[in-house]
Amino acid sequence: MSIAALPSDRSGAPTGGGPRISCRGVSSGYLGAPVLHDISFEIDEPAVYVVLGPNGAGKTTLFRTLAGILRPLEGEVLVDGEPVDLQGARDHLHYLSHMDGIPDGLNVREALRFYGRVERAEAPDVDRVLRLLDIESMADRYLSQLSAGQRKRVSIARVFLREREIYLLDEPTANLDPKLSREIRELILELSRDKIVLYSSHNLFEAREIGRYVIAIKGGRLALFDRIENLRGEHFVIGVRVLDAGTPSALADFTRQGDYYLKELPGPESVPALLHELDTQGIRVREAREMNNPLEDLFA
Ligand code: ADP
Repeated sequence: MSIAALPSDRSGAPTGGGPRISCRGVSSGYLGAPVLHDISFEIDEPAVYVVLGPNGAGKTTLFRTLAGILRPLEGEVLVDGEPVDLQGARDHLHYLSHMDGIPDGLNVREALRFYGRVERAEAPDVDRVLRLLDIESMADRYLSQLSAGQRKRVSIARVFLREREIYLLDEPTANLDPKLSREIRELILELSRDKIVLYSSHNLFEAREIGRYVIAIKGGRLALFDRIENLRGEHFVIGVRVLDAGTPSALADFTRQGDYYLKELPGPESVPALLHELDTQGIRVREAREMNNPLEDLFA
């Protein structure tokens, strides 16, 4: 894919002193076998860019390549106009892997201090980060005693210990319920005001909630790079997957499609109210996603 993959309303010309990351004709993979093919894009506007694609599309491989962990087989990655090695990338980028190893034998405060050293943050302000993530009350608890959602908060806290220009967040809300996912997205939006954030997801609704741009990857190729607002289906249909449909009457005006209960809404802005309504009726929503959008065809 050539530079034609740039969003239609942007020239790609650098805007000056802000952060920039470019991928030029990048092919990348493992043991010499490419997973990503000829990926090109230029990013110079601080915003959230959702890297969207089904499992196995190559999102993590893209992040590892941007972070300098995988060397491209062809092409190059530039940060602020310069090719970067792993060391250089670490100074500019924060890569939050979806498999962040969290040391179980430490309490939360110790873990954050440890991360502060790993991140080479100067005098990391652990208390500020504990407050920011609203995890002060668990500061002295061991990571092994926390729920999945609490552990996720701690791993997100790591992102805030040292400021970077560019953040690569690999499925930061995977396996979290919609309420916690939304809280995490709000924190990330806060963080991204003057940063470039690449945020991977396989959920189009989530992409709409957080992203200004979408970078869709299909089969290791760049399928689309556009502003999210250009990706409207004719109708907005939300699908919810529930833990148990305890009160089926609350779901009476939904239609069923596989594991999902579907409902047409005026637009994505109506989703929080719907989720709240289901919550008050005691229905525990495991996942909410946009259904029947043309973009889903990319993933077929
Ligand atoms: P995604 O993040 O979109 O789910 P990945 O980048 O993890 O996709 O995987 C893309 C492809 O690369 C998959 O076919 C996967 O099996 C392969 N892959 C991922 N990691 C490795 C690895 N360490 N060694 C070999 N192949 C890998």
